[in-house]
Amino acid sequence: MKMPPFDYACPTTIAEAVNLLAAHDGDAKALAGGQSLVPMLAFRLASPALLVDLRKLTELRQIRITEAGVTLGAMTRWRDIEDDARLKQAHPLLQAAIAHVAHYQIRNRGTVGGSVAHADPAAEMPGIVRTCEAEIAVIGKSGARTIKAQDFFQGPLTTALAADEIITEIRLPAWPAGRRWGFQEFARRRGDFALAAAAVFYDPDAAGKATNAHVGVIGVADRPLRLPSVEAVLNGAIIDAATIAKADAATSAAVDPDDDIHASAAYRKSLAGTMVERALLAAGRR
Ligand SMILES: Cc1cc2nc3c(=O)[nH]c(=O)nc-3n(C[C@H](O)[C@H](O)[C@H](O)COP(=O)(O)OP(=O)(O)OC[C@H]3O[C@@H](n4cnc5c(N)ncnc54)[C@H](O)[C@@H]3O)c2cc1C
Repeated sequence: MKMPPFDYACPTTIAEAVNLLAAHDGDAKALAGGQSLVPMLAFRLASPALLVDLRKLTELRQIRITEAGVTLGAMTRWRDIEDDARLKQAHPLLQAAIAHVAHYQIRNRGTVGGSVAHADPAAEMPGIVRTCEAEIAVIGKSGARTIKAQDFFQGPLTTALAADEIITEIRLPAWPAGRRWGFQEFARRRGDFALAAAAVFYDPDAAGKATNAHVGVIGVADRPLRLPSVEAVLNGAIIDAATIAKADAATSAAVDPDDDIHASAAYRKSLAGTMVERALLAAGRR
């Protein structure tokens, strides 16, 4: 199908972009990599009067690594993350997850801000944002604010962003050396959205027991989930076969997916447990 008609603007400052969005009162959309928005236009699932292209806001395309963590400008592309050798130490979980996003051509244009704003429940970046409890920095007509991951994702393609707000940065907390982690995804074909995926990490104490366990899943709910009941299984435990089996069962018990054309609810429930199991096995090998 052809796209509906729309006006186009390509501002050179963040303030100009925000003013354009605000002036259209919900009838304008930011355009980043276009890899989700353009298909939405073509399918007539969106028909904004104005597209506000963010591509000239080059200050939003940067990766900063400090003691506080990794800050990704909203216009950082998947390829930028893949190519940044520093992230191998600074945030290996992020790089591992992003390797599952779509295909080369899409990774060349798609952005982290676009993915987080789009909020597909099966997308990897929202899963990493939720699992790591990242902060999302946004700016709108009434100023800048920071939104916690747990408050940001509100349902499928639904977030806490106001219509005049753009995401400027995603701030991932610091990643300590010695952290154990794993990311596992199952999709029908390489590059497809996940049927289910799991991100896990924990910090072993001197006795080798897990502390600060974080377990997140995607593809099994209307938004990315963090699973406190599974984290409770891991915290204070040695991550051996018995603990991993308990975590697998706790994951399946904690999620309540719907049936859809891709998989039954029962299959997804079981798959989520298997993804956590495999992610924990990978974490143990690191
Ligand atoms: C064939 C195909 C397969 C794909 N597979 C995967 C996959 O496996 N995993 C995955 O995660 N993604 C996948 N994607 C989606 C891809 O990763 C997109 O790039 C991403 O979801 C959106 O990023 P974008 O920069 O292209 O955003 P756009 O498409 O430009 O925008 C998406 C939405 O975000 C809004 N937006 C964009 N930037 C901002 C901002 N800074 N502030 C506020 N709102 C903003 C737009 O208004 C729009 O509503 C796939 C896409 C395609 C076409």
